[in-house]
Amino acid sequence: MDPLLWIDDELDRLESADLLRKLPPPLQAAGATVEIAGVQVVNFASNDYLGLAADPRLIEAAASACQQQGVGRGASPLVSGRSELHDQLEKRLAQFFKVDASLLFPTSFAANAGIVPALVDRGDAIYGDEKNHASIIDGCRLSRADRHIYPHTDVDALEKLLAKSEPYRRRLIVTDSLFSMDGDLAPLPQLAALAEKYDAMLMVDEAHAIGVFGDHGRGVAEHFAATNPVLEQHIHIRVGTFAKALGSAGGFVYGSASLIRWLANRARTYVFSTAHPAAISAAGLVALDLVHAEPDRRATVLENAQYLRDRLHELDWNTGASASQIIPLPIGSPARTMQISQFLRDRGFWVPGIRPPSVPPDQSLLRLGVTAAHTRQMLDSLVSALSESQKIAV
Ligand SMILES: *Cc1c(COP(=O)(O)O)cnc(C)c1O
Repeated sequence: MDPLLWIDDELDRLESADLLRKLPPPLQAAGATVEIAGVQVVNFASNDYLGLAADPRLIEAAASACQQQGVGRGASPLVSGRSELHDQLEKRLAQFFKVDASLLFPTSFAANAGIVPALVDRGDAIYGDEKNHASIIDGCRLSRADRHIYPHTDVDALEKLLAKSEPYRRRLIVTDSLFSMDGDLAPLPQLAALAEKYDAMLMVDEAHAIGVFGDHGRGVAEHFAATNPVLEQHIHIRVGTFAKALGSAGGFVYGSASLIRWLANRARTYVFSTAHPAAISAAGLVALDLVHAEPDRRATVLENAQYLRDRLHELDWNTGASASQIIPLPIGSPARTMQISQFLRDRGFWVPGIRPPSVPPDQSLLRLGVTAAHTRQMLDSLVSALSESQKIAV
């Protein structure tokens, strides 16, 4: 008998629960409009928030880095994979975030999966928000520390847990700064205060926020700095990605010189993985320059998001706790969610349905990713299509 036979049974089960995911058709390039099977659709399914993923300046930088430095690096960074461009980008990130140092990872999934186990082990404790990204959850699972999950953004519940944390050797509080499905912000000032009070490390993943939030695009930590100027210094470990607003690929961590030296020694996803292509670093350098030079892009994303939320509220759509360019429309059942998603697709809008395991059971939702490249007209016509979709039979 075929020992993989069980997989077909499991796939059938997923399909009958409306939870089977199929690969979408391949796309030419990211953008506010994309062509799917010959049809132009407005794309609300991407995290290319600043519209940089196909920017000619990033393309040019990446292409010329390939010409000069080849494609593959051939080794992990500690062996021989690190290029001059990796070195420049790590220094540039440190300067951009006003910290001592930074370290590049293949992706920020890899960063989280490697960093958490490098920070805590048996005898230590992790305190994580229940809605943390899968990569943080996996990092926590890979460590041998005790895991305590607190209800979403509930600082009182977290404090109750921390009040009993004395016996542990080390404590780590870890959270997304901007939650990837709900679009709300973590209460970073309160988390930093608790970290200080209970002598805990604070790790914050700014994957969706860098380039979008903060006067200089440094993320939610900078966003709150308006009322709490030292907040950024009180977050010990910060993680980001080039794959979302910054338009390319690759993860990174930034913080103190000792932290970075430690992670370069102990984060297994850094030590045992090949350095990413120099072209990625070249694109990253340009993206950081553009975040600095073109602040209108981040202003536009957040204005677009506010505009869309306002229009949706007029039509009684619930946008949950969204306070960002990520706008969830809670639907509930996976079947209904996918039905509306398909209805919108047929009218020229790509709005992904998000189902378990990305969200808890019966909390399926439509996830709108708003970008700087969306026009008001695109947003208005999406709202019309959504209002029509309310009339389709369940
Ligand atoms: C998307 C995301 C990641 C993964 O980023 P990649 O660089 O694409 O691996 C990590 N953390 C959070 C919070 C994310 O939303």
